[in-house]
Amino acid sequence: MIGQRATNITWHEGHVERASRHALLGQQGATIWLTGLSASGKSTIAFTAEHALTAAGRLAYVLDGDNIRHGLNSNLGFSPEDRTENIRRIGEVAKLFADAGVLTFTSFISPYRADRDLVRQMHVKAGLPFVEVHVAAPVEVCEQRDPKGLYQKARQGKIPEFTGISAPYEAPTAAELTLDTAELSPEQAAAALIDCLRQRGLLPAGI
Ligand code: ADP
Repeated sequence: MIGQRATNITWHEGHVERASRHALLGQQGATIWLTGLSASGKSTIAFTAEHALTAAGRLAYVLDGDNIRHGLNSNLGFSPEDRTENIRRIGEVAKLFADAGVLTFTSFISPYRADRDLVRQMHVKAGLPFVEVHVAAPVEVCEQRDPKGLYQKARQGKIPEFTGISAPYEAPTAAELTLDTAELSPEQAAAALIDCLRQRGLLPAGI
């Protein structure tokens, strides 16, 4: 589905600069891309960080895998092509949010390195910060957690193409941050993530 289909369309440059939006909000936007196995803790960490940042007066928002699949991407399944299109669309939406000045967390398995790299490239091209976070936990730990019973179903063959069981997960090789959730609590992981954003100049000291 990638590629420009429509013809006779012209990019229209707006009159409000990104810097003006950032000044208005008192923050710059960024995409913080959480990737990892199902039940590794992506959503838990993203929502914990969103809550902490909001309490500290920062505008943050989570684009969450399951929620997005109910709406924007409700027409996509879990085939390799659909997973790629899922990530491309999320990447584009996150980029728009980041451009608007929002600290945007995305919580998607996003198993393919090439798909994540494509999203990174679209951010680099747009001059927007992109922070890749590997939420890492051994598949055995994720399977033991299994909050939605998905691993059990996958083991029973009821879910085809389940990442970590019957579909591949390509771990990042150069993520900005790796969070080992077998070792860190959700609170510790969210704190480490916020620390990373501070170190990268995306948050002022004291938050
Ligand atoms: P994902 O979004 O990666 O599929 P979720 O956040 O939905 O994962 O689920 C992770 C599950 O693991 C939750 O039930 C959460 O309470 C539990 N959990 C246990 N330890 C951790 C941890 N250190 N970090 C994040 N989640 C954890």
